[in-house]
Amino acid sequence: MTGKPALSDLSYRALPNFFYSEVPVAKYEKIKPVILNERLAKELGFEKKWLGTLDGLSVLSGQSSLAVEGPIAMAYGGHQFGHWSGMLGDGRAMLVAERKDAAGHLHELHLKGSGQTPYSRRGDGKATLGSAIREYIVSEAMHALGVPTSRSLSVILTGEKIIRDGYEPGAVLCRTARSHIRVGTFQIAAASGDSENVKALADFAIDRLEPSAPKYGPERYGYFLEQVSARQAELVAKWMGFGFIHGVMNTDNMCVSGETIDYGPCAFIDEFHPGKTFSSIDRNGRYAWNRQAEMAHWNLMRLAESLLPLLGQDEEMQMQAAEQHLNIFVPKFEAAFQQIMANKLGLSRNTINDDDFLNETFKAMTLAKVDFTLFFRRLTQQIAVNDFTPLLDLFRDRKIGEAWLSLWKSRVSNPDLEAMQAANPIIIARNHRVEEAIAAANNSDFDPFKKLLAAISSPFQERPEFADFEVPPSENEIVHQTFCGT
Ligand code: AMP
Ligand code: MG
Repeated sequence: MTGKPALSDLSYRALPNFFYSEVPVAKYEKIKPVILNERLAKELGFEKKWLGTLDGLSVLSGQSSLAVEGPIAMAYGGHQFGHWSGMLGDGRAMLVAERKDAAGHLHELHLKGSGQTPYSRRGDGKATLGSAIREYIVSEAMHALGVPTSRSLSVILTGEKIIRDGYEPGAVLCRTARSHIRVGTFQIAAASGDSENVKALADFAIDRLEPSAPKYGPERYGYFLEQVSARQAELVAKWMGFGFIHGVMNTDNMCVSGETIDYGPCAFIDEFHPGKTFSSIDRNGRYAWNRQAEMAHWNLMRLAESLLPLLGQDEEMQMQAAEQHLNIFVPKFEAAFQQIMANKLGLSRNTINDDDFLNETFKAMTLAKVDFTLFFRRLTQQIAVNDFTPLLDLFRDRKIGEAWLSLWKSRVSNPDLEAMQAANPIIIARNHRVEEAIAAANNSDFDPFKKLLAAISSPFQERPEFADFEVPPSENEIVHQTFCGT
């Protein structure tokens, strides 16, 4: 008895052929598991033992699938850095299974690095161990922080060396998400010129994600657009509240489910600057920390354009509906972000519209180059010990710290400690720690990776044994740039 799960259909196959391609299973001769997420496996109803059996590892590395008719690669298009790229699709990924959790929600199992597909263009369809480890760490860190995200179920070494800058170990990541439908999936449906494709995709996505949607007519699709907009507004507010920069918010990397996906050049800010970027390819700062809401809104406009034929009977009605449903984004984002920042700063709810104070806070943090996470952590800590020295020590220019502190004291008479503790993590997946874990893994040492995972898994809890992970990078540890690293 290995607890092998029964094969099942992939619901995605109910869509017109246009939306996916058949892909062969992968062939890797010397696979070896690096990590299996047993807790997530259990949530997805897998028997603990099965995952680690040859059979389980074969599914997780893409050499067999749990789908009756075999795995598929998904089609999607995308605007990359503002430019339409046409068809992109899963060039190194495939859908191998779907599972229901205890609440009855479906989750898709999607592999990255499982080999070439019809969408690979000139790519090799493979993934480096480094990219798989980076995605595993950051997605699990985001989940632990309470940010909607794809999860990571496993990383399996393929036994191959693949060529990037030099040779690197190849790996397959298995990630899960409620849905991998992206804004770019709608765009490619619209670009096909067949409005039946758009309708089929919208109905499929709505049936999967929106149990309360109206059943027919423009209201149904308007409702969907509004829900997607609301989820994105809340998602980006959460990202920003943790100092997270996604780095490649192209429309092919934005899920309509409101889950964060595609952890490439993403990073958490250490030294704060609102215009901060890490990605080596984001030369114009399009996806900087403080532009993420604007860019999510831009992406949602592309979604609205794709949905236009479904939003009303004539052009005027369509445009009006699109505008109306998109208009909720800005106020939703602002309310969510202000509430998050109010919680972080210990302000009570009724003072959240205090824009000036927020701006002064960001200004002081920028000028004095404080570490984003540690700033809020120390502000929270000082309440228990009533000592502001550690907080002031973070400001490179102490005078700026003192001025900000007296402003804070004048604004916050009775800080809400519980709200602060719940909003201000002690441990985030710091870039230098992620890089350290990747470098060690490339030398077959997985201890730093596993230790970092243990550290980020309870980010709000005081755990002296992980105190090291709170510490910002020293001058020579600072990560200045991140790379897509496929
Ligand atoms: P990403 O930047 O990872 O979101 O990928 C953008 C597009 O490039 C997607 O269509 C990917 O499937 C494709 N892609 C990325 N890396 C590879 C690779 N090694 N082989 C084939 N396609 C890839
Ligand atoms: Mg992508």
